[in-house]
Amino acid sequence: MTLTLSMDPAEYVKALVGALATGQALIEPAQVKYTVSPGVGILRPAVQCPSPNQDDRPAGTEPELIIIHSISLPPCEFGGPHVEQLFTNCLDWGEHPYFREIEGLQVSAHLFVRRDGAIVQFAPFGRRAWHAGTSCFRGRPNCNDYSIGVELEGDDDTPYDDAQYDVLVGILAALMETYKGLTTRRIAGHCDVAPGRKTDPGPAFDWLRLYDGLARRGEDGGEK
Ligand SMILES: [Zn+2]
Repeated sequence: MTLTLSMDPAEYVKALVGALATGQALIEPAQVKYTVSPGVGILRPAVQCPSPNQDDRPAGTEPELIIIHSISLPPCEFGGPHVEQLFTNCLDWGEHPYFREIEGLQVSAHLFVRRDGAIVQFAPFGRRAWHAGTSCFRGRPNCNDYSIGVELEGDDDTPYDDAQYDVLVGILAALMETYKGLTTRRIAGHCDVAPGRKTDPGPAFDWLRLYDGLARRGEDGGEK
């Protein structure tokens, strides 16, 4: 089964959730056309899972930076529900010793891209998600105010999945098409905006592969 954008959104989400539950791979990320709704900024296709950890951006502030992160809970374990639980303040801190170390943390990101390319959106792009913490990009502090946070399911040292690169390229192209303040020169790792404090997405993330993908999309007359 292949998901297409001609499907009714409710039907799409139902199919995607069903597929995730059975582990069925049905996404062909390279074929998907990603779109961002004007105004509040909802990505399609993406499962919507609103996080309480979001608020308004400062008045008049548009997205001008994309920050790439990685996360896995517990660290280096993939496929569980814990990231969604953390970002919606539903994580059971007693379920794993590592969770005690982050107990009480209230964070989110705009997007989470699973290993198989499935996308979950926790905050619309017009709102501020809480992903960067103390941070600075080219001298401008408080990156959360003006950035979009994309979490890849992973860790610093495990190669990311092919599907994640395909999806990321598609998402970033759609975002750059939607928000004129975003360009390929305004993509940073969490490690770049919080050096010494954060290391994600780590050496495992292949930046050239991302840039090659974006360039190819442009040459093909794609979104950008
Ligand atoms: Zn991060």
